[in-house]
Amino acid sequence: MKILKNISLKKFTTIRLGGNAKIIYFPENMDDLKTLKKVLNKEKTIILGNGSNIAFKDNDYLGDLICLKKFKKSLSLIGTKNVYASAGTSCARLAKFVHKNKIPGFEFLHGIPGTVGGALTMNAGAFKQEIWDLVQYVTVIDKNANIVKLPKSSFKTSYRKVQMKDIKVFIDVYFKININLKFKNYLLDSYFTKRKSTQPIHQWSSGCIFKNPSSSISASALIDSLIHKGKLSSTKFGGIYISKKHCNYFINDGTGTCLDLENLMSIIKKEIYSRNKINLESEICIY
Ligand SMILES: Cc1cc2nc3c(=O)[nH]c(=O)nc-3n(C[C@H](O)[C@H](O)[C@H](O)COP(=O)(O)OP(=O)(O)OC[C@H]3O[C@@H](n4cnc5c(N)ncnc54)[C@H](O)[C@@H]3O)c2cc1C
Repeated sequence: MKILKNISLKKFTTIRLGGNAKIIYFPENMDDLKTLKKVLNKEKTIILGNGSNIAFKDNDYLGDLICLKKFKKSLSLIGTKNVYASAGTSCARLAKFVHKNKIPGFEFLHGIPGTVGGALTMNAGAFKQEIWDLVQYVTVIDKNANIVKLPKSSFKTSYRKVQMKDIKVFIDVYFKININLKFKNYLLDSYFTKRKSTQPIHQWSSGCIFKNPSSSISASALIDSLIHKGKLSSTKFGGIYISKKHCNYFINDGTGTCLDLENLMSIIKKEIYSRNKINLESEICIY
């Protein structure tokens, strides 16, 4: 198993923020993961997928990291009822594989730049669908390092949230194929085209910074209104700025620090609270 020490965390997050990591383990299979039992149970250990919803603080991260990017990637159809994916598989690969097999329902995952494990943890979603809508079973490692297969009903899920309880790692997932849905060949491309036209997908960001306060109020619209009413003295703090394409995406111009990000987030939260009495909740995980 590959192990890196004293390495910058910037390249392990899509927003390119963070100090150094003391140690990162890269398990490639279950045997590697089992050897990390003690590491998994340390309080500060973090599991890392593609780092597309994470920023690390500028100081060094002193806990251990386990990155699943090199973990065995596996995708298959199980009969006509299930799709199997291992946690390190990218959401885009999953969406394309399912599309190629003319199975509907997974198209929204194309364009979410994370791993399946990260998507399960965040209950990632788009176009009014969420990944847990598709889940039948997951395999996890629990706090006693047992490998357990759990049905969807064991989890309480909500918007961008899953109650993890004693779960340490998502290992793989069995998705249920919805036979009542009709396959639409154009849908994968049309979702992706829509994404490209409304989101700055080629810049250093972590997607939406704040959760939407409700299904009818978007964080992006609230921030947009602050900008248009001149309530922000600047849309940039240090090297982090609000994207003109999508106000809930904050971009690192290459010189940004996590402190810049946190300062910009804090200014916005304060302004939104004072104008709208809404407490914006972070979607990005900052460690
Ligand atoms: C351009 C862009 C567009 C985006 N669009 C969307 C979108 O449309 N919808 C959306 O929901 N999100 C979106 N995101 C955010 C992000 O891609 C998702 O949250 C994604 O699911 C995170 O996956 P990841 O592998 O990168 O997880 P990471 O960022 O690496 O981790 C996220 C969290 O999951 C935990 N974790 C990761 N893997 C595992 C595992 N196997 N077991 C247990 N815990 C784990 C981490 O510890 C962390 O707490 C976008 C991000 C970007 C940069």
